[in-house]
Amino acid sequence: MMYLDAAATAPPRREVLEAMWPHLTTGFGNPSSAHSAGEAAARALEAARETAAGVLGCRPGEIIFTSGGTEADNLAVKGLALAGMDRLALERPAHERPGAAPHVVSTAVEHPAVLESLNYLRRRHGFSVTLLPVDGTGMVDPEQAAAVLTPKTVLCSVMYANNEVGTVQPVGEIAGRCRAAGVPVHTDAVQAGGWLDLNVTALGVDALSLSGHKLGTPKGIGLLYLRGAPAVEPVMHGGGQERGRRSGTENVAGAVGLAAALVLAAAERDDAVRHAEALRNRMVEAVLRDIPGALLTGHRTRRLPGHASFCFPGASGEAVLLELERAGVLCSSGSACAAGSDEPSAVLTAMGLDREVAQTAVRFTFTAALTEGEVDRAARAAGEAVAAVGGLMRR
Ligand code: PLP
Repeated sequence: MMYLDAAATAPPRREVLEAMWPHLTTGFGNPSSAHSAGEAAARALEAARETAAGVLGCRPGEIIFTSGGTEADNLAVKGLALAGMDRLALERPAHERPGAAPHVVSTAVEHPAVLESLNYLRRRHGFSVTLLPVDGTGMVDPEQAAAVLTPKTVLCSVMYANNEVGTVQPVGEIAGRCRAAGVPVHTDAVQAGGWLDLNVTALGVDALSLSGHKLGTPKGIGLLYLRGAPAVEPVMHGGGQERGRRSGTENVAGAVGLAAALVLAAAERDDAVRHAEALRNRMVEAVLRDIPGALLTGHRTRRLPGHASFCFPGASGEAVLLELERAGVLCSSGSACAAGSDEPSAVLTAMGLDREVAQTAVRFTFTAALTEGEVDRAARAAGEAVAAVGGLMRR
């Protein structure tokens, strides 16, 4: 089997598992316990926080460990927006409050972890939400982002890179414009981890979400960076861990694994990017050359290095996936979360693709271990799969 679905989840890395092992066995203490086993666990947790902070270029106290990308996005979007709503209410004279619906800006192509958090804010707290449109490549216009900000905007959340089509957003430019307007910016960097610069100062963002399992940790660990000590309404209530911002006994081994994965990814990034870009370009060329009507989705160049996503008009994406699996290639139709659903991808329709065309999406995402030979085989298998389910293959 050839695994071309790294954006759904990456294989766990041996070095990461080895770093975690002592914390799953002898060092099993609860970091909140006052005895020596607890203190050792607390030290390991704080060391992991320092290491992660070193990679992101921030202070350790600005890192909150979570259960993954979804929780980090929920905490950022709901937590910052609800705290912003409180601030707004305090700043306004009482007679204006009924009309002072707080406002949040995001994009039409976010992951459901962000979009559904926004829906919650709208449904339960009366927020007004602006979803910025994207162009045909999936890109947001920073000018447009700046134009929709109002004095009631309490948060702008724009993903760093898209999980379905790999388009990399101009997050730095958007953050600059939001900063000028005094609006905090969150970025979902779950897909960017391992490929793009995660230095939060260079990016200029106030909050950034990461997920470990895209970087080679087991599933169930992630982090949220929060600049300074902003007010944030917790999503998880309980014992007050993570400085009251995320209750629940900490996943010490997970945090240690995430720190190790971040260090490895940072050290290997340049080589990994070069390697994956060369293979991705090879795959894109082969597919566009050999499969009539094949469309590359997402931006041609401003895209994740390991991301090759296509539509094959006339050939159902789900049927192509089944054929590919028979041929030994594991990939997905757009996003893992939407797999199995009959609805076309909201990302692709936001990019202006017809519903029928959007239903033919197939995404290949690479690990750094992939070889040229495997890419050639996958591209050939894609052509045969599309031909088998109704499309044509050029000979
Ligand atoms: N955000 C993006 C862009 C993602 O691609 C994903 C997962 O695929 C998530 C958030 C959710 O992360 P997790 O699987 O760690 O909950």
